[in-house]
Amino acid sequence: MSRILVVEDEESFVDALTVGLEREGFSVDIARNGAEALDKFKANTPDLVLLDMMLPVISGLDVCAEIRRSSDVPIIIVSAKSSELDTVVGLEVGADDYVTKPYRMRELVARIRAALRRRNLDTSGLGPPVPGYVERDVLTVGGLKIDFDSREVFVDGVLVELPRKEFDLLGYLMENAGRVLERSSIINTVWGLDYVGDTKTLDVHIKRLRAKIEIDPSEPSRLVTVRGVGYKLYDPA
Ligand code: CA
Repeated sequence: MSRILVVEDEESFVDALTVGLEREGFSVDIARNGAEALDKFKANTPDLVLLDMMLPVISGLDVCAEIRRSSDVPIIIVSAKSSELDTVVGLEVGADDYVTKPYRMRELVARIRAALRRRNLDTSGLGPPVPGYVERDVLTVGGLKIDFDSREVFVDGVLVELPRKEFDLLGYLMENAGRVLERSSIINTVWGLDYVGDTKTLDVHIKRLRAKIEIDPSEPSRLVTVRGVGYKLYDPA
């Protein structure tokens, strides 16, 4: 199991990252400032460091430079959109990759796996990497399969065409299969600022999606309504 040191001072990110990364099979250690990060790095020798740039006590940049003095552990830096310069400098002082807040869990996990794979450290996957083989970003839940790279969806093995928002909606539900997603969370993630009009837009998209993925759309068994809360994609696993 790959161990990840998450250096992050914002509690909401800490919680989401811990749940999300553990769900993906990683072991997670948390440091809430730069000094703690360096202590924990020395004590626990993680396989990868996910490093926020904006940190109290010692900045992410300094943490990155300090770790690089003694280790070539993969480091992924996390920066706010407004601080592109930090990102550039971060890469210059030895970070492997970066993500910009706000990011999606799936994107982050893909980058973590890629960084670990480059160092042959990904022990959560299918063994040693094959040279030249790039793992596709694919998720399968029951009879549903989504390929985020080719933007294709297969329902019980049959390719189904989905318009952009229906694809994004299904992608978000599949990433969180088995979990109830609140309406507001779905709207924020799939539409964000694009969301116009009344809340019926979501219902309309749910209905259209059901027509394509359900065996009997009038009695949904895959995309389930959770009354008063939101929706859940049923996960048979
Ligand atoms: Ca921060």
